[in-house]
Amino acid sequence: MSKQFDVVVIGGGPGGYVAAIRAAQLGLSTACVEKDSYADPKGEVRLGGTCLNVGCIPSKALLQSSELYDQAAHSFVMHGIGLDSLKIDVGTMVRRKDNIVAQLTSGIRGLFKKNKVTLLPGHGRFVGHDGDFWQVEVAGKDGKELVSAKNVIVATGSKARHLDGVPVDNKVICDNVGALAFDAVPKRLGVIGAGVIGLELGSVWKRLGADVTILEALPDFLSLADPAVAREAWKTFTQKQGLKIHLDVRINKVVTGKTGVTVEYEVGDEAKTLECDRLIVSVGRIPNTEGLGVDEVGLELDARGQIVVDEHCQTRQPGIWAVGDVVRGPMLAHKGMEEGVMVAERIAGQAGHVNYDAIPWVIYTHPEIAWVGKTETQLKNSGAEYRVGQIPFAANGRALGQGDTTGFVKVIADARTDRVLGVHVIGNNASELIVEAVVAMEFGAASEDIARMCHAHPTLSEVMHEAALAVDKRSLHF
Ligand code: FAD
Ligand code: NAD
Repeated sequence: MSKQFDVVVIGGGPGGYVAAIRAAQLGLSTACVEKDSYADPKGEVRLGGTCLNVGCIPSKALLQSSELYDQAAHSFVMHGIGLDSLKIDVGTMVRRKDNIVAQLTSGIRGLFKKNKVTLLPGHGRFVGHDGDFWQVEVAGKDGKELVSAKNVIVATGSKARHLDGVPVDNKVICDNVGALAFDAVPKRLGVIGAGVIGLELGSVWKRLGADVTILEALPDFLSLADPAVAREAWKTFTQKQGLKIHLDVRINKVVTGKTGVTVEYEVGDEAKTLECDRLIVSVGRIPNTEGLGVDEVGLELDARGQIVVDEHCQTRQPGIWAVGDVVRGPMLAHKGMEEGVMVAERIAGQAGHVNYDAIPWVIYTHPEIAWVGKTETQLKNSGAEYRVGQIPFAANGRALGQGDTTGFVKVIADARTDRVLGVHVIGNNASELIVEAVVAMEFGAASEDIARMCHAHPTLSEVMHEAALAVDKRSLHF
């Protein structure tokens, strides 16, 4: 006889743990199955998935440490602050990051206890169904057990995609796991892929003194972002910060030697070689469905290997849902969390939903890059008529006081209705500033609504205000 729950969640990352907590809050008996991908040194399962263990949280901890170092090295002087000597202790920096991870992952355990979510440590796999109940086998340290539930939420996430012929050992050639645990600043760091991870982790080690070269297959830089933002980012990263980024490359061969790695690649017809001490491979992620028993219960996978779901994250099998990186849409923690809440609420008979048009993107480089809604390229391609207001941080008193005036805010609104269609920010604190735009878009605001709101002075948010005013060509301070 298997243990029965109202809801079984497979995977304890942001999509899964949030779904489990919300389901339990709604009075459903809930279990969450999590395997030992990120076990602690004692072999205990760690919750939080990629995000807390080897993703969002550790990368942001290292970005903060390296940003402080960079400021001390380059920006303090303009404030009249001098340092006789400056050094970085990578061991301390990495331990600080590890402590934050430990604190947050054990925090999720605490939240499970508080909300009465049963944690089932082990690998979860569908084995079939018994009437309306889906059966999931949990293979843990102490053997296997069978659990069943009318509703199962798959939240198994994703793992780094690797390239054929580029053997990741997470010591010299690293994916996100190894790249977050370097024990020293490499002299020469190579990165394959100028996407989000390449730029964030490339920035960390560049700030600490590494000579960083990023090799990108696409001819366009940051093609997902608004073109004005991508241009500004390119200028800042390559010209001001000295990141070497080569576009339109084809990687031919990667050889690990005694002293490092040699990457042979081509740009156009020209053959080139990059010698580096360490190499990060950040070329996207693939969904985790291996060993999940998708065939046993007839789940369909799309061309990218993600589980096919509808707009409410329901699969074609009644009672089986899937959320987060394992389904279509951006691979972002907050997108997975929102889906987790939606699914739990729908299981409980409520009308949970996710507004996929208002999911913010943030890249935590310096300057930060953040956007929500449509880019100008998308709007042009769709033939939409729109108006744009763009204001630089250089015109803002707070930005000047902070000594950090790179970038701008760009508001795009419908030419006829003035409804906000997209907002793009590159600059200090873009990650926090974008929230105002998300609220505006969720409430169907016009640029006029933002323009008529009182923004505190002096704040960076005044640039958002001015950009909204600029849509109607009536900015006051620019
Ligand atoms: P995951 O977090 O991958 O969790 C899935 C969990 O399921 C894992 O714990 C895994 O062990 C478990 N699991 C898998 N299969 C099974 C099974 N069969 N049985 C039991 N358990 C199983 N996103 C952002 O929004 N902001 C950021 O700043 C950000 N930074 C990132 C930085 C890096 C370096 C990386 C790699 C990613 C980053 N992301 C960021 C992306 C974010 O981490 C993911 O979008 C998010 O973790 C996805 O959540 P998830 O719950 O779908 O999957
Ligand atoms: P990515 O999709 O952001 O970027 C991968 C890059 O690698 C792309 O530009 C792609 O063109 C390039 N590429 C692919 N194959 C290549 C090849 N053979 N040679 C050279 N370049 C190649 O993926 P990522 O940086 O690995 O990050 C994975 C995902 O994790 C992201 O898509 C994002 O969803 C998530 N993430 C989010 C954040 C954030 O929200 N701040 C941070 C890190 C990661």
